[in-house]
Amino acid sequence: MKPVSFEYHAPETVEEAVALLAELAPKNGRVLAGGQSLVPAMAFRLARPAHLIDINNIAALGELSVGAEELTIGASVRHAAFHQPVIAGPLGRLLSDVVRHIAHDPIRRRGTFCGSIAHADPASEWCCVTATLGATIVARAASGTRQIPAADFFTGVMTTALAEDELLAQVKLPLLPADTRTGFVEFSRRGGDFAIAMALTTYRVENGRIADPRLGIGGAESQPRRIAEAERVLQGSIPSAECFAAAAMEAARAVAPMSDPMISADYRRDLIASLVRRALEQAI
Ligand SMILES: Cc1cc2nc3c(=O)[nH]c(=O)nc-3n(C[C@H](O)[C@H](O)[C@H](O)COP(=O)(O)OP(=O)(O)OC[C@H]3O[C@@H](n4cnc5c(N)ncnc54)[C@H](O)[C@@H]3O)c2cc1C
Repeated sequence: MKPVSFEYHAPETVEEAVALLAELAPKNGRVLAGGQSLVPAMAFRLARPAHLIDINNIAALGELSVGAEELTIGASVRHAAFHQPVIAGPLGRLLSDVVRHIAHDPIRRRGTFCGSIAHADPASEWCCVTATLGATIVARAASGTRQIPAADFFTGVMTTALAEDELLAQVKLPLLPADTRTGFVEFSRRGGDFAIAMALTTYRVENGRIADPRLGIGGAESQPRRIAEAERVLQGSIPSAECFAAAAMEAARAVAPMSDPMISADYRRDLIASLVRRALEQAI
């Protein structure tokens, strides 16, 4: 199938892009970033935008910068930018570890980090990272700028707090202290496939006990999220096989997994238990 016909717009500044969005979003206008989700959907006619606003010519959106407290990822930064650590320390290592799970090399060279966040596939690795680390999403519109905490951003399967006239301009990931340990594990049937479920953890060990634990899951529910029940088990505990197993059990209990004709909710729940345990072990 071929896409339905559409008008193509190629703004060169963010101001032009948001002005176009204000005018064209109500007329079925959509942002085009890497095109790795939108273009296949158009080819299948699952998406039928009347206008495409291509953001690839906007130099300012290619920014990848490190500030005192955060890593800022602009809207046209590709997945492949993370193949090598973009920053020394645990955050850079985590991102380069996670990126190899996303699709295949040609897709990683076109698809963007922020496009994944805007698309909000429940099985997106970057969405899991964004939710677990507590990132801030910067949305630009002709009427102004909003900073949206990740916990409020993902609202359902491929549904977000972004308004139709807003451009997702940046994601700001908080830097991780140098002694942070990280673990990321996912399960998919074949390398490059979307994951059935995934688990991400970060924590530090202070005086032999776990401090500042974060435990997030993706792929299992309609949106990625942190599991507070499991984090409570970890906080202040001595890292051990027993503690990790207890946290994994809590996570499996807390999760409300999706079910589909191929994969049952019970299977996803079992997966979460083992992926959480393995992520915690990997981090130690
Ligand atoms: C075979 C295949 C396998 C894949 N496997 C994986 C995988 O394992 N894990 C994974 O996470 N992804 C996977 N993907 C998806 C890929 O990562 C996409 O790159 C990503 O989902 C979307 O990013 P994009 O830049 O290509 O966005 P596009 O396809 O350009 O856009 C996607 C949607 O987001 C909107 N959008 C994009 N950017 C913005 C913005 N800045 N502001 C507002 N709206 C915006 C668009 O309007 C559109 O609705 C796979 C894709 C393919 C084709």
